[in-house]
Amino acid sequence: MSTVVAIDGPAGAGKSTVARMVADRLNYAYINTGSLYRALAYTAMTSGVAFKDITPEFLEKQKLEFRGVDLYCNGKKLESELRKPECAVGASIISALPFVRDYLLPVQRNAALDQWIVMEGRDIGTVIFPDAEKKFFVTASPEERARRRMAQGGEISGDATFESILADIKARDERDMNRAIAPLRQAEDAVLIDTTGLSIDEVVAKITSYCR
Ligand code: C5P
Repeated sequence: MSTVVAIDGPAGAGKSTVARMVADRLNYAYINTGSLYRALAYTAMTSGVAFKDITPEFLEKQKLEFRGVDLYCNGKKLESELRKPECAVGASIISALPFVRDYLLPVQRNAALDQWIVMEGRDIGTVIFPDAEKKFFVTASPEERARRRMAQGGEISGDATFESILADIKARDERDMNRAIAPLRQAEDAVLIDTTGLSIDEVVAKITSYCR
């Protein structure tokens, strides 16, 4: 039986950085599930398929798998291409489709078959691993998340302003929290970690100490 640490929370709360560092400290594998939704969005875009035209048949033709912690789509390792802003928006749109979530469920569960993992996403503690040993809900105010995104500069377009980033974060929250299937919410048995005003090291230390 492998051990799962589930870390859920909204976009831009610092989950990825924190989850990766927690995994390092515990010596677990780190799995980012947003990359799965992003990979499908990326594949649709590069295949010329509009998000609204994605069908279960289209998904069946895609071979998406984790090899250890690396994500492969149709034999190609996907990494930096998934960080593009349009992949984030596409992921958020297609993640509301029930058949997309059904398709990705076994991919996520299989990742825990032969390794201990820290898995990060939106519904890990509620849907994917409801029996996960440890669950955390990592969040921060929308303004704090927008400030961090602005400071990091990574996943934003060149002409982005604080206001446009904040609007984008709020729109993603709205979509993620209000979709009918597996909406973003804190599992009842998850520990809430509000990272507003905390450093990354403080958050990592908090989560790691809960896990030990
Ligand atoms: O975490 P990340 O920002 O990469 O996720 C991109 C999008 O994928 C999210 O906005 C969300 O809509 C979707 N997602 C999801 N369930 C997950 C992980 C991501 O619906 N477990």
